[in-house]
Amino acid sequence: TVKSRGKNGYDFFDPTMEAKSLERILMENEMRKAIEQEQFQIYYQPKIDIATSAMTGMEALVRWVHPELGIIPPNRFIPIAEETGMILALGEWILKQACKQNKIWHDQGYTLKVSVNLSARQIYQKDLVEMIKDILQETNLSPNWLELEITESIFVKMEEATAVLQQIRDIGIQISIDDFGTGYSSFSYIKSLPVDTIKIDASFIRDIHHNQESQAIVKAIVTIAQSLNMNVIAEGIELHDQVAALKENGCDHGQGYLFSKPLPTDDFDQLLRQEQQ
Ligand code: C2E
Ligand code: MG
Ligand code: MG
Ligand code: MG
Repeated sequence: TVKSRGKNGYDFFDPTMEAKSLERILMENEMRKAIEQEQFQIYYQPKIDIATSAMTGMEALVRWVHPELGIIPPNRFIPIAEETGMILALGEWILKQACKQNKIWHDQGYTLKVSVNLSARQIYQKDLVEMIKDILQETNLSPNWLELEITESIFVKMEEATAVLQQIRDIGIQISIDDFGTGYSSFSYIKSLPVDTIKIDASFIRDIHHNQESQAIVKAIVTIAQSLNMNVIAEGIELHDQVAALKENGCDHGQGYLFSKPLPTDDFDQLLRQEQQ
């Protein structure tokens, strides 16, 4: 359609720009429908204690199961949801689903912590703390079994974000900082953040088994975390060699395809039952 329009005399449009905005409009409309029709699904990925291989929790990761396009990964629609503001409705839905499901697992004797990703946009949402409290009350999940994952992108307004996180922690919810080490100012602000856990970005884990710089960075993050009384977890673990290198450098928690890919609720449920045996 871009080409035919060009022939009709609209050549002054940058075709890639036009294609993008068209895709955006289509996506927006589709997403609105998708929320109404509950086309979104939550997958869960285990978090592991590296020493014992025991599961300590799970991360909720959203998927869009589109009736024609199939599974659309979050990297393709979360940015659009953020730009359009639809992340507020979607984020609330995700949080409610994750809390509801975790309560079901708790009632069955699987007492694990669920981690939910939070967008920058949500942090600056006026009624975020009230919304979270309402969901906890409605689902009857104790705040101690909920963790929220944020990235440093939320700290555009440092004081405002810090105040919101403080309120969230006061409820008893834990905060972890995702993709740590990828931002340019990580080390300068980490000491002043109300954060319980540092998630070491997958880029340092990818080559940790044969790259001394990555080892040094992981070791430094672990040291800083210990001195600030924070936990650490490594993301993106795919190889046993990476586990060995993490152990050597003092990182005792992990997450990655080596242990399990993110799974649909039913499959994760199966995994929990197998674990118990
Ligand atoms: P993230 O929070 O850093 O999540 C980790 C991503 O790495 C997930 O991708 C996960 O499936 C993937 N992953 C886990 N282990 C491995 C591994 O061993 N190897 C590789 N190559 N990848 C691994 P996913 O599910 O596609 O999510 C991508 C990003 O989208 C997330 O990064 C997060 O920033 C965002 N996202 C996902 N779900 C949500 C959500 O419910 N709300 C919000 N606001 N953002 C979300
Ligand atoms: Mg995350
Ligand atoms: Mg991450
Ligand atoms: Mg990420």
